[in-house]
Amino acid sequence: MTDQMTDQAADRPNPHVPADLPGRIQHYIGGTFVDSADGDTFGVLDPVTNQVYAQAAAGKSADVDRAVAAARDAFVKGPWPRLLPRERSRVLHRIADIVESRDARLAELESFDSGLPITQALGQARRAAENFRFFADLVVAQSDDTYKVPGRQINYVNRKPIGVAGLITPWNTPFMLESWKLGPALATGNTVVLKPAEFTPLSASLWAGIFEEAGLPEGVFNLVNGLGEQAGDALVKHPDVPLISFTGESSTGQLIFANAAPHLKGLSMELGGKSPAIVFADADLDAAIDATIFGVFSLNGERCTAGSRILVERAVYDEFVERYAAQAKRVVVGDPHDPATEVGALVHPEHYEKVVSYIELGKSEGRLVAGGGRPDGLPTGNYVAPTVFADVPPSARIFQEEIFGPVVAITPFDTDAEALALANGVRYGLAAYVWTNDLKRAHNFSQAIEAGMVWLNSNNVRDLRTPFGGVKASGLGHEGGYRSIDFYTDQQAVHITLGKVHNPTFGKGA
Ligand code: NAD
Repeated sequence: MTDQMTDQAADRPNPHVPADLPGRIQHYIGGTFVDSADGDTFGVLDPVTNQVYAQAAAGKSADVDRAVAAARDAFVKGPWPRLLPRERSRVLHRIADIVESRDARLAELESFDSGLPITQALGQARRAAENFRFFADLVVAQSDDTYKVPGRQINYVNRKPIGVAGLITPWNTPFMLESWKLGPALATGNTVVLKPAEFTPLSASLWAGIFEEAGLPEGVFNLVNGLGEQAGDALVKHPDVPLISFTGESSTGQLIFANAAPHLKGLSMELGGKSPAIVFADADLDAAIDATIFGVFSLNGERCTAGSRILVERAVYDEFVERYAAQAKRVVVGDPHDPATEVGALVHPEHYEKVVSYIELGKSEGRLVAGGGRPDGLPTGNYVAPTVFADVPPSARIFQEEIFGPVVAITPFDTDAEALALANGVRYGLAAYVWTNDLKRAHNFSQAIEAGMVWLNSNNVRDLRTPFGGVKASGLGHEGGYRSIDFYTDQQAVHITLGKVHNPTFGKGA
């Protein structure tokens, strides 16, 4: 080590390590923490030191078989699917209460494991509680359709849980995204097997204790850690798992779709994005700049709905780029545990390499106006300076491909038609953000965008009742509100004759 490196390291405080960090992370099957059947483990890194801090159980098909059997048993014989909605709702509210009461600890562990800034990890922990509360309320308010044919028939919908739901989640906001699936799957009376992302298994293991304390019956929640190609794959191919809810990359979604096809499983796919923010010249530029800075640099840019392409009308383009770049340079990058940090450390060195390679590519595809690699003063850890490329042509790979880091491409446009063609000219269609004060344009433009969700003069502020999901390569199916309830339940139609039985008579001929 050179003297200079020693000095730099000495200047920086030791990275924060949470107290009582577990050295091993196990599966949780049928109410018990267990190792893999073959004893295999994998190392888990923290993104500030990139040192292995824990060994996690590496699940394979034998472990998935055990977890599915426990979940199946709890579904077939246990009380959970048969409880009144109000009784399940009470358990879910208790889960939300516990999550809220431990939000600081959850945020500390999540931030340590994922590199998310502590303030944002805290927001995600609270949102996880809110997801449980929301679905707890929804199932008691749930009503189902009844149809009357006067004097002849009453036909009604008998809604029922489906069975063992397989939940496969990514690493970007692990705990919150797990809650987005666990909440509705459990509220509707299913039992589950969760396979969290291998980069960030720490917070998922906390669910077990929370659920036990809240009174969730044994076997209803099961957790199998492991690699996607092993544990995830076994879950997707398991014949006793009729439902898979997946959030992750579009290419993984394609593979899962193919692997689930022989079993004709119910699939919900929340996939990647390359969402546009379109700024018209008549927009409130101050608000648009603040929102589009936050939109791509929050959660370290590791955000499926990040506004990672900004399309700006020519009349305000130069001013926008200049002000945007200046503000991006002031975004505070640093230790995820520091409350002043706005962008923390990217989740894993592999992902860091991917993001940095896109930045290098971007230097030949666009004009670098902020960032461009590792920030000064942070020689180690997966830190990337908020990076802004201007004048990016739509053919550029940094315009077309999901980078999933703090990197944004800015492109000018002259007409509404050109802006729409640019906005829609990628394979993804998750979110879009439109900035204009012209009412007609705002609605017409928004409605023409190929995106599952549009925000008008707003950041990404979710209303949990609205549909969540993407079009094109960004997903299949929508969750959110009653749509989640629909995904996790079967709707059986029951028909009752009220009047005289009216059978067509076969076989009574002479
Ligand atoms: P990923 O696809 O690599 O992994 C997601 C999960 O799938 C992990 O648990 C992984 O182990 C598992 N997996 C991988 N291969 C598998 C296989 N063959 N069979 C079964 N499971 C498998 O995604 P990631 O890198 O963890 O997450 C980032 C991606 O997630 C980005 O593309 C992002 O846009 C997307 N994302 C989408 C949303 C949304 O709601 N649309 C939300 C968050 C993240």
